[in-house]
Amino acid sequence: MNNRLSGGSGKGESRPLKGLLLDLDGTIYHGGVPIPGADMLIRRLNEIGLPYRFVTNNSSAAPETVAKRLQTMGIDAQPQDVCTSAQAAARYVADKRPGARVLVIGESGLRDALLDAGLNVVDRQADVVVQGIDRAFTYEKAAEAVAAILGGADFVMTNPDLLLPTESGLKPGAGSIGAMIAAAGGKKPVVIGKPSSILMDYALAELGMDAAETWVVGDNMATDIAAGKAADCGTILVLTGLTTRGNYEQYARAAGCEPDVICGDLSELMSYISSFMRS
Ligand SMILES: [Mg+2]
Repeated sequence: MNNRLSGGSGKGESRPLKGLLLDLDGTIYHGGVPIPGADMLIRRLNEIGLPYRFVTNNSSAAPETVAKRLQTMGIDAQPQDVCTSAQAAARYVADKRPGARVLVIGESGLRDALLDAGLNVVDRQADVVVQGIDRAFTYEKAAEAVAAILGGADFVMTNPDLLLPTESGLKPGAGSIGAMIAAAGGKKPVVIGKPSSILMDYALAELGMDAAETWVVGDNMATDIAAGKAADCGTILVLTGLTTRGNYEQYARAAGCEPDVICGDLSELMSYISSFMRS
């Protein structure tokens, strides 16, 4: 690991820090347990008035549900603080094809986001297939999605995660369901979630900030840091989740990118952020 980048003395200080896009799982909490310092970090950001959004690849939960989950962990959060891949997918489709007929492979968070964006959720003759994690996925649903795609529908996938971490171990994620549909339909999906910049661009628009003054914070090189780079944001890797000092080199090689700054924990992250507030 490159120490030059550690502990808030990184090259990134030449760019301003006026907003943050914060990953959730592995950065703010693990499962249902907050990461040490997460509550203090959010309280402090609110005190100093630094704008931020929680940005999640998870398409199954509505922002209200995510905010409630954070509140039960003692972390101050409102639905409008949350940007999900479902919302970004809905916005993407609504911008490209206003009023489109959409076949949904997904859960209530995705369905609601599409309806909120003024799209028509249909069972057949879809213009677009939008697919996320669907824990009630069936062969029938796959067949409907494939028929729509073979019939010319566009294919949009909320997030490419192949595996979904759960309390009973790793389960197939949205990306694995999408891989099946893509194989049968012969069409690669437009990917919305990290490492795609589409979710980040959506979150930046929600934040009302430019990429040049916004930093992405996350624990995953291949998703958070890669998405931050793709969106031209500053990037901060926190060693609070997936990435550790031991596996950093391996993950950096696999992701093909490096963060601007590495912070060991959330108090180190707060110190780094504070260094901008003083200057
Ligand atoms: Mg994470």
